[in-house]
Amino acid sequence: MAPGHSIPMIDMAKLLAKHGVSITVIVTPLNSTRFSSVIDRAVRSGLSIRLLQIRFPGSEAGLPPGCESADSLPSYSLIRNFFVAINLLQKPLEEMLKGLDPSPSCIICDKHIPWTADTIEFTRLQLPGLLNPGSMDIGDFREQVRKTESLAHGVVVNSFEELEKSYVDEFRKVKGGKVWSIGPLSLCSTDNLDKAQRGNQASIDTEQCLKWLDNRDPGSVVYACLGSLGRLSPGQFIELAVGLESSTHPFILVVKGGSRSEEIEKWIQDDGFEERTKERGLLIRGWAPQVLILSHPCVGGFLTHCGWNSTLEGISAALPMITWPIFAEQFLNEKLVVQILGTGVGVGAQTVTHLGEYEKDENKATRDGIKSAIERVMDKGKEGSERRKRAQELGVMAKRSAEVGGSSYLNVTMLIQEIAQLGKTKKGIA
Ligand code: UDP
Repeated sequence: MAPGHSIPMIDMAKLLAKHGVSITVIVTPLNSTRFSSVIDRAVRSGLSIRLLQIRFPGSEAGLPPGCESADSLPSYSLIRNFFVAINLLQKPLEEMLKGLDPSPSCIICDKHIPWTADTIEFTRLQLPGLLNPGSMDIGDFREQVRKTESLAHGVVVNSFEELEKSYVDEFRKVKGGKVWSIGPLSLCSTDNLDKAQRGNQASIDTEQCLKWLDNRDPGSVVYACLGSLGRLSPGQFIELAVGLESSTHPFILVVKGGSRSEEIEKWIQDDGFEERTKERGLLIRGWAPQVLILSHPCVGGFLTHCGWNSTLEGISAALPMITWPIFAEQFLNEKLVVQILGTGVGVGAQTVTHLGEYEKDENKATRDGIKSAIERVMDKGKEGSERRKRAQELGVMAKRSAEVGGSSYLNVTMLIQEIAQLGKTKKGIA
């Protein structure tokens, strides 16, 4: 943060924008004043550059007012304080990055802002059990799984190439080309009965459920279901229920059992939640016909725990998502949806709650975080509409991939050919 560094950075922003990329320049208010006329002119000339401001924490670091660039320091003996202030920018900048939509592909920063190296994608607490073991002693089982995976001839994946092309390509390199993405598999269920009976018999009459949905406005309903295993603690369930209630949208909330389900049911009754929200809320206790619900045109948002199946089902249904990852690799799936695909907004969950530990009453998500994510996803303004448009495009891609000639269709064909060839080779035919 000195002219000899910031001036060429602004030039670089213009240079990159001239090559057709979208640039966001983040500066403190006084630096913004310094560069705004240059940037304004660049924008008027048609370049995609936006200037965002971040407050400079100079006073917290003992600097006098007005010192937002090294050249404005009254004495260079204050340089250490200046670096302290720069370090204090880390948290607010990370918060800002989380809110950028679409999220940035990369950060280019000056080497004197060293903490950007730590602005990592994941915290240890968000990592799956393999890297962040819980209290249960299942390390030996994980090792067995890892071994089996490494011995497999190839890997069949419930995904589709267009969704995560660069990951599929890298994975193929690691697996010697033997990776077949053949999903989304949920698209195999095309008639309503198949959709309704995936997995379990639904615990709600599907006609009643569809009728309830038919009576809502298109794209207005939030469907909230945290998977087949995710059992919330009563405290977390209350946050979810109140978060849904305080948003203004109709909702379907799936309530799962578990050892504390009686406490949850007691709260639903004693608090009057179900009665209070009966005009716009539908509770499903037990198994929901998820794929059927997601494919209904009146559903406009999916509050999900980011289990991979649910994530893909939401993508296939062209829905934007409210993401609340809980365990396993769900935080990774959330990053894909929120930061890479740009079709989701997180409720603010920060920590993996391993299976078997999630009935502890720990507050991982708050009613305010849930409400605000719902509002952002269901928003009819520019941000919400762009997110919906991206979700729509992905939904179309998902369906195309499964159709005759699509990438997943071709991968199924190639998988079958590979196995047939392998069989012949083993028998010495070819
Ligand atoms: N599912 C459903 N009804 C429910 C709960 C889950 O149909 O009430 C289905 C959902 O559609 C998905 C699967 O169960 O296909 C859950 O898998 P996912 O990977 O999303 O999460 P997990 O349950 O493994 O955490």
